[in-house]
Amino acid sequence: MTLRVSGFDQARQGISNEEVLRVICELIPEPERQGVQELVYEPAVDLGVELRADRTGRVHLDIEYAMRQRYAKQAELGFHELRKDSGFERIVIRTTEDMDGNILHEFGHSVQNRLSSQAKSEWSRLHVLTAPEAFISERASADEDEDFAECYALFRLKPARLRELDPKKLAFLESNLNALRDV
Ligand SMILES: [Zn+2]
Repeated sequence: MTLRVSGFDQARQGISNEEVLRVICELIPEPERQGVQELVYEPAVDLGVELRADRTGRVHLDIEYAMRQRYAKQAELGFHELRKDSGFERIVIRTTEDMDGNILHEFGHSVQNRLSSQAKSEWSRLHVLTAPEAFISERASADEDEDFAECYALFRLKPARLRELDPKKLAFLESNLNALRDV
């Protein structure tokens, strides 16, 4: 499966798409990035600026786009999209802030989808048993999916830190990610 990376050369820092792909390949083992076909950098638009910038028919589309974004609270940093009909998976990144962390977080959603149902319910149990103050981040406390994505990102970036913060979730990732290798 080839991963198509685009849009990152439009980012302010001018990171090339090749560079992003190289970093992903270093951080994420092949079996864990298999599900995702496309990774796009697409910054969030400011509605006001978009309206002033374009007086043609595109304005209408941009309003819809901004509205959709407003509803998608989680989509401020980026999002993972799985189209149920085709199985097509795509990640959109919206900000250059903590870019590696955000990309890994979104890949985490893809990885979680591909766990066995037994592993998924084991994760649910781990999440439910976590004390409110023990989540590794505020984002992780939102729900079990966000918890997984946050733990996955930290696992791939700084596993020693995850060991300190939540050794049970580290152990879960260590044993269950290996199973993806055998699929
Ligand atoms: Zn998320």
